Amino acid sequence: MQEKPYFCPNCRSNRVKFSVIASYSQSFLKDALTGEVKETQDPSPVSESEPTIQCLVCSYVGNEMRFVKQAEREPRVTTETNPSYT
Ligand SMILES: [Zn+2]
Repeated sequence: MQEKPYFCPNCRSNRVKFSVIASYSQSFLKDALTGEVKETQDPSPVSESEPTIQCLVCSYVGNEMRFVKQAEREPRVTTETNPSYT
């Protein structure tokens, strides 16, 4: 994941609460006749170039880049409670 601000492109009210959706690969052996799962390996994460992010406000799911791009288009507005940005 990138160290960049996110902004949900759907509800456009959330920059803070997100969830990352990761894929895991878990191999197993199946019985060819009964279909029973005989043996499972430990799951291992599938490396993805771009993680999938979910907005926890509106449940929108999209590529990380969509959230980053939206934050770049609409950067957080300076307020009086955040005077360090001049
Ligand atoms: Zn949202």
